[in-house]
Amino acid sequence: MSFTVAIVGRPNVGKSTLFNRLLEKRQAIVDDVSGVTRDRQYGIAEWNGKSFNVIDTGGFVAGSADVFETEIRKQVKIAIEEADAVIFMTDAAVGITDLDDDMADLLRRSSKPVLLTVNKVDNNDRMLSGTEFYSMGFENVYFVSSMSGSGTGELLDAVAAFI
Ligand code: GDP
Ligand code: MG
Repeated sequence: MSFTVAIVGRPNVGKSTLFNRLLEKRQAIVDDVSGVTRDRQYGIAEWNGKSFNVIDTGGFVAGSADVFETEIRKQVKIAIEEADAVIFMTDAAVGITDLDDDMADLLRRSSKPVLLTVNKVDNNDRMLSGTEFYSMGFENVYFVSSMSGSGTGELLDAVAAFI
């Protein structure tokens, strides 16, 4: 098992909620990875009989705008270096923000596949407003509610298809 997917996105979009959902029923946090920091959590998920590593990034406390920018670049760098694919999480309840655009610019430069995941699609209204994220131009777009689990199966199918 060597495939690794990282979850990146600005604070509060729901990265850790998705991470915890992916790991439920088979919790297996790896805490002795060399260089591990409190900035990220590592776990193992299973889907359709396939196992893969999941990295939850961004476990930091938001500071000034400068710290924020630095942290976002760091997250994306980690994701691109350590992962084979990136789940780029955004928030349908908020819409596209400048920080989302900044992260998208960095991720577009990477050769790793990016799965744009629009979270908090809890109902049809959110699905309609969430369609604005197609304008970011990513090929793979998933609409999920990490809270309820809705749509996460399709996202996991897409991850498993890489393995
Ligand atoms: P992170 O900072 O990106 O790791 O975000 P968290 O996972 O900590 O979630 C931030 C907030 O969004 C929490 O209050 C979650 O309960 C909430 N949240 C996460 N996923 C969903 C979702 O699918 N729908 C709704 N309505 N709220 C969510
Ligand atoms: Mg988090």
